[in-house]
Amino acid sequence: MTDAFIGLGSNLGDSVTLLNEARAALTSLPQTRVTGVSPLYRSAPVGPQDQPDFFNAVVRIDTGLDAASLLVALQLIEQQAGRVRLRHWGERTLDLDILLYGNERIDLPNLQVPHPRLHQRAFVLKPLLDIAAEIALPDGTALAPYCATVEDQPICQYSDDRWSLIP
Ligand code: ADP
Ligand code: MG
Repeated sequence: MTDAFIGLGSNLGDSVTLLNEARAALTSLPQTRVTGVSPLYRSAPVGPQDQPDFFNAVVRIDTGLDAASLLVALQLIEQQAGRVRLRHWGERTLDLDILLYGNERIDLPNLQVPHPRLHQRAFVLKPLLDIAAEIALPDGTALAPYCATVEDQPICQYSDDRWSLIP
């Protein structure tokens, strides 16, 4: 079993419902148990500014799926959510990224882990550190200190009963 972190994001459609459904889908993955769920965050878009705000969260899983199978499973969940992606760094209905997969480093054409922009994005770092304050990159670099470097990115916790009431 591997301790992995999945980044969830959405800024098209009913984002909170989409993220809820994605979270439920993660719970239903084979050989997988959800072990942590971050608060929900709302942030201004990175990239094109003429698009809706983003909603983000991080879910921690303990999984028997290898990283490639996990990626395929996440892409299926994205498709089932009717994933639309209009432009690079633009709006999308649902984005699921493997942020960390145990202590593995993966550098394949279709899969880079740790996620290359993990430490540069407040909407990933903050929810990740909320549920794993001591988390580090595979080389041992702690992630908490990077928080100071993303403080200029406007982001806040978003309170929504649809997210917080799920057991
Ligand atoms: P973004 O980089 O904004 O998340 P996309 O989700 O559209 O952009 O990127 C999709 C591609 O990213 C997929 O085809 C997938 O193969 C690739 N990819 C590379 N590394 C990862 C990762 N760690 N998690 C998820 N997708 C990844
Ligand atoms: Mg993605």
